[in-house]
Amino acid sequence: MTTPVIAIDGTAASGKGTLARRLARQLGYAYLDTGLLYRATGFMTLSLYPDTDEITEEMAITAVNAITAATMENSALRDEEVTQRASKVAAMPAVRTALIEQQRNFAKNPPESAAGAVLDGRDIGTVICPDADHKIYVDADVEVRATRRVKELLERGDEAIHARVLQDMRERDARDSSRSVAPLVAADDAFIMDTTKMDADAAFTTALEFISKRNQSKA
Ligand code: C5P
Repeated sequence: MTTPVIAIDGTAASGKGTLARRLARQLGYAYLDTGLLYRATGFMTLSLYPDTDEITEEMAITAVNAITAATMENSALRDEEVTQRASKVAAMPAVRTALIEQQRNFAKNPPESAAGAVLDGRDIGTVICPDADHKIYVDADVEVRATRRVKELLERGDEAIHARVLQDMRERDARDSSRSVAPLVAADDAFIMDTTKMDADAAFTTALEFISKRNQSKA
């Protein structure tokens, strides 16, 4: 029997991370935030090549290979500079290829023998786990997402100007959606959730209901 996999994709600050984490906790599944892999790669390019914005694929692969367990824990991965760099290196085919196996491995053999896996990102349902048991695509109005991100940044003690955050988010959405490899797009068979008017509890209940209903109809 194969391990059940839930694929959650969507735009930045759409609520997909919170939803994925809660679903994993509820179902006893392991959770992988795949954005962290791209953030760690972006972070490493900034540490290894601080004097240039001209990052080649070769430099980005050197960065992938320099990632350690400590990198993955670094709170700087959430910094805005790292966020933008992450989406730039994520558009490089070689970087995506280098990170595929680790993600598929997690889905296939979740750590600590968890009963299943929840992965969130941009291409989980389309590229990483096209055979996932459940696929959810989460989006929300960009203004609402920017407001959520500002709140998050302020809670972290970071400075945040709404107009700036909105502009960065639009740029990142455009880059993630228009890249030639694994662009951000809903899988044909994904359940689409618009969280513009939903809080985290409502999103969780809606997603859990979708999963339960599908499980019942498959049983
Ligand atoms: O999900 P998060 O916002 O942390 O992801 C940071 C960046 O990493 C995204 O803007 C995107 O460019 C990239 N990413 C990706 N594919 C994934 C997860 C993240 O390209 N599966």
